[in-house]
Amino acid sequence: LSEDPSFWNDHNVQILIRVRPINSAELGSQGNTRCLVQESSQTVAWTGHPDTRFTFDHVACETISQEKLFRVVGLPMVENCMSGYNSCMFAYGQTGSGKTYTMMGDFHEMDNMLSEDCGMTPRIFEYLFMRIKQEEGARNDEQLKYSCKCSFLEIYNEQITDLLEPSSTNLQLREDMKKGVYVENLKECEVSSVKDVLELLLKGAANRKIAATRMNSESSRSHCVFTCIIESRWEKDSLLHLRYGQLNLVDLAGSSRQKSSGAEGERLKEAANINRSLSTLGLVIMTLVDVANGKNRHVPYRDSKLTFLLQDSLGGNSKTTIIATVSPSICSAGETLSTLKFAQRAK
Ligand code: ADP
Ligand code: MG
Repeated sequence: LSEDPSFWNDHNVQILIRVRPINSAELGSQGNTRCLVQESSQTVAWTGHPDTRFTFDHVACETISQEKLFRVVGLPMVENCMSGYNSCMFAYGQTGSGKTYTMMGDFHEMDNMLSEDCGMTPRIFEYLFMRIKQEEGARNDEQLKYSCKCSFLEIYNEQITDLLEPSSTNLQLREDMKKGVYVENLKECEVSSVKDVLELLLKGAANRKIAATRMNSESSRSHCVFTCIIESRWEKDSLLHLRYGQLNLVDLAGSSRQKSSGAEGERLKEAANINRSLSTLGLVIMTLVDVANGKNRHVPYRDSKLTFLLQDSLGGNSKTTIIATVSPSICSAGETLSTLKFAQRAK
């Protein structure tokens, strides 16, 4: 896998497939039988009928470490945001394929170092704060100062809940000439260390569980968005300069085909909303690729809460990374194929 930060220069959308190891349930039911063979750092073959080969920007093998993955997709994202551009990282895949492991991973209160299983989010912030220190030190004379504000929300059934203030439900999206698209009354917390960020992540994860239980659902049916606005200000020739970059880390609802047969009322609505918001995301990204290639197309941001929320961080100069997580086991052949097709379309 290439670790080339300049990768971003000519691609605004990059797609990475992450194959997780076969788990014990899959081993127990189908042994080591696979639906997927990795052929290179960019291609995988799906071995069902008809067998199909897919090519992506990166294919991360089953044994890739969280650290290595971070260096491939996380680090360039931080550099981009520090230069004042917006970025989005999405994890897309069926439930159980490794989205949360990739975005969050296993972590506890901060010891002093992040553990091996820590996912992209903690690593991104560890690196961000290290870089901020470096930059501020290097441009002391210009009084360069960064400040970071985070928010954490969930979109379930097209409704926004604040995961840092769970009594704030059904929050509304607003659009403002100066601020762009924002969530009204969403709590924002200033952070200045990884420890601060981990506290917010843990708090949000706990609230996500409570909210899911209250709505008689599972957290896998909601999209979860952690956002950080990075502001930098400096003085040059006695002029004050200000710059903003926004970083969005999104753990999407499980893509498993939401069954509508047999479902009624709330369940039916829920299934329809998940399918629609995931397909809108795919369509928005596909359209943006066309726009980048010079075509004049309407981008349907407003067709889902998620894409409307992220409107200012998708397209234009913004960088998007999609990590599509898949199981290589034959048990998930159908789901894995549909994830690969989604990722393929987003290219
Ligand atoms: P999702 O969020 O997509 O539903 P999870 O991230 O919760 O799936 O992953 C399901 C289980 O598989 C978890 O126990 C997780 O620790 C494990 N897992 C997922 N991806 C990996 C991986 N790349 N390496 C090791 N374990 C993984
Ligand atoms: Mg999950």
